[in-house]
Amino acid sequence: MIITIRSQATSEERTQLMTQVCRITGSLHPITTTVIDGQELIVLDGTSLANETQALLNEQAAVERITRVKTAYKLVSRAFKAENTRVYVGHGHDCEQVMIGGKIPTIIAGPCAVENREQLLTTAHAVKHAGAHILRGGAFKPRTSPYQFQGLGLEGLHLLAEARKATGLPIITEVMEPELVETVAQHADILQIGSRNMQNYPLLLAVGRHAEKRPVLLKRGLSATIDEWLLAAEYIVAAGNPNVILCERGIRSYDQQTRNVLDLSCVPLLQELTHLPIVVDPSHATGRRELVPTMSRASIAAGANGLIIEVHSDPNNALCDGRQSITPEQLQKIVREARLLTQIMHEEVMVQVA
Ligand code: PEP
Ligand code: MN
Repeated sequence: MIITIRSQATSEERTQLMTQVCRITGSLHPITTTVIDGQELIVLDGTSLANETQALLNEQAAVERITRVKTAYKLVSRAFKAENTRVYVGHGHDCEQVMIGGKIPTIIAGPCAVENREQLLTTAHAVKHAGAHILRGGAFKPRTSPYQFQGLGLEGLHLLAEARKATGLPIITEVMEPELVETVAQHADILQIGSRNMQNYPLLLAVGRHAEKRPVLLKRGLSATIDEWLLAAEYIVAAGNPNVILCERGIRSYDQQTRNVLDLSCVPLLQELTHLPIVVDPSHATGRRELVPTMSRASIAAGANGLIIEVHSDPNNALCDGRQSITPEQLQKIVREARLLTQIMHEEVMVQVA
């Protein structure tokens, strides 16, 4: 249940409401509220509250409306918010402003890891030329082995900021620990939470509480169910940051042929369950560069709001994930195909309307 508090409510009316909520829920602690898009909300887990109890709350002068949400996730659910969330990227930085969540798919591209200045700048210019809207690049890398390249850290962030200045492309990079959220957010336009950290709750809270509400791209956990994933997103939104983008990047299975299994059915399913935008990462999902173009087309056809693709100017010599990285020329073709597919899908919508 989500209670929207009237913005005009007096402090007495608010106190009265809080007392009622404490009484109904049996809570001994003060009720905390969440502010989303300027609206103050109380989110209650109880789905079993009787109709009479709800009616009692509804009568409270401080209540604007009550939304019943049956699922465990509340604020990210379609039941709470019917219209699609649009996430605006690039705020506060001198770069192009990009919107994720509309009909035109957003293309995010760049190397797995920032390796050095030349590699990043060359790739950044090339992906821009290929039609990408946002540049990706890992500065802090969550590597399976401690002996693999761990990223350039802070130096990588500075190089990303330089690449943004040179190309005008907003940048996305991963943040792995709560203590680094502020630093990474100063440089990045989107904070990426990697698959291995989807259920790192202190990290989810830290990006949720970020003062400027820097957009967050939340990757699906290695073996996460859709409900677990949506609840991880709920942590961020409930902590105060509504700018969340979901990213399907494949889930673990028994088959060794591909790195992961791309769960494309989650795209249309999520569009029913949540108002948050969803992008697909065909690179980590397949682990094979030859599969990336086909799965990119399939993702757009499934209704994804965008793609995040690993691109390297010299994939065979990449320090990280070269096997799944494509060249800028291949990206250009994918961008063209994505545009054409979108056009066809929209025309179809127009025909249906006519
Ligand atoms: C990445 O984007 O480079 C990455 C590490 O992805 P994931 O968290 O999906 O494995
Ligand atoms: Mn990678």
